[in-house]
Amino acid sequence: MAIEALHKMVYSSTNLFHHQCAYNSTLLSVITPNTLHAPFYHTTKPSYIALAASKPFNLLAPILVYWAICTVFHYLDTAKYPYFENRRIHESPEMIARNKVTFNEVIKAVFLQHAIQLVLGYLWFEDSEVILRDQIYVDHLSKMANLVPWVADGTLLLLGKRAGEQVLLKHGEKLVAWIYWWGIPIAQMYFAFAVTDTWQYFMHRAMHNNRFLYRHFHSHHHRLYVPYAFGALYNHPVEGFFLDSLGSAVAEKAAFMTLRQATLLFVISSIKTADDHCGYKLWWDPCQLLFANNADYHDIHHQAYGIKSNFSQPYFTNWDRILGTQMSRTEADGKTRWKKLGHEYSEHDKHNVISEGHAKKVN
Ligand SMILES: [Zn+2]
Ligand SMILES: [Zn+2]
Repeated sequence: MAIEALHKMVYSSTNLFHHQCAYNSTLLSVITPNTLHAPFYHTTKPSYIALAASKPFNLLAPILVYWAICTVFHYLDTAKYPYFENRRIHESPEMIARNKVTFNEVIKAVFLQHAIQLVLGYLWFEDSEVILRDQIYVDHLSKMANLVPWVADGTLLLLGKRAGEQVLLKHGEKLVAWIYWWGIPIAQMYFAFAVTDTWQYFMHRAMHNNRFLYRHFHSHHHRLYVPYAFGALYNHPVEGFFLDSLGSAVAEKAAFMTLRQATLLFVISSIKTADDHCGYKLWWDPCQLLFANNADYHDIHHQAYGIKSNFSQPYFTNWDRILGTQMSRTEADGKTRWKKLGHEYSEHDKHNVISEGHAKKVN
């Protein structure tokens, strides 16, 4: 029954579109772009095109970005500028006092994860010739022309016949071009974010609920009670494959992304996951300004009191909110006592820090 109803719905909407298309045939030809209206990211330069279709470049980009961002945060960790010290989520000495893994072990694990990622990516994506043929040397004008009836019908449905026609006559061509070059790619990116989040939430939660999975795989990541950027990819390789690599592959496939779009998605994911573990609360940081799921949010999950909360990562907090696993910083504050520490730990403080998962108050 449900399938029949769905079929009827699709059939009637198809009829509507056919009707509108026929009715507005003159309008359609007016708003069909006959120039590319290409944005800055579109290029016909052979050297850029070769780079855009090159698998090694696209696979290395997110890895290099990760190392660059983490190096900057590592520099800040060691340089100890007062501005950044005041914005730490935890006091600096806690990094050594509470973490159960050394920096060198973290670096080795990240290196291994990236090596696996490179091999998998190489097998996953098509070769450069196929990418050039299917994704780069494409007829953008005819692809835009295919969009025209949908844009026309959507505008008329939304604004009504009279206002819709006026808008289309005035801005229709540019609207079609904008939807083609910006609207659809942005929607694809947003959709890929949602798929990544969904994949990661349920896999991550399963890793906590299943003793075997937690003990053998996910507990590795939780050796970091005071996260720092490089530690974002400190995972057991099996977890790295299922949560990160496979999750990203599913997201880019589900969103029908080109290699370049997938690269952008992976670069954003690399930046976001490094930032989520950076250990600083920085209001101006785009990853923290734009996303409620940020360094402070994920830090709670790394503490003993929050380990069964804030499973959502890396973009939104939706799944935590829907399924009741969200813990705010205010709630987290209630679970531990706040205490501002000096530069040196006394034995008593050190003990409290370790046992209570103390977090510093950041202004
Ligand atoms: Zn976890
Ligand atoms: Zn983490």
